[in-house]
Amino acid sequence: MDSALTDRAGLCASCRFAEIITSSRGSTFYRCLRADTDPRFRRYPVLPVLRCAGYEPVVPAPPASPASPPPK
Ligand code: SF4
Repeated sequence: MDSALTDRAGLCASCRFAEIITSSRGSTFYRCLRADTDPRFRRYPVLPVLRCAGYEPVVPAPPASPASPPPK
């Protein structure tokens, strides 16, 4: 991802409710998925978002389980 965009976005960059939208002209926006069901949130938040009651970090994928031991 474009690090300048990530820096500009603030919390949205790591929020699980953010969706990155790229326009046909190449501009990139963050859309807040919480806004679909909660009017307290703006569909297109003003960036950077520095504080947000709805923020929840993206949950990182669990580490891969260790490979099975070779058969004897
Ligand atoms: S909930 Fe807040 S931090 Fe998350 S995408 Fe919406 S505005 Fe951004």
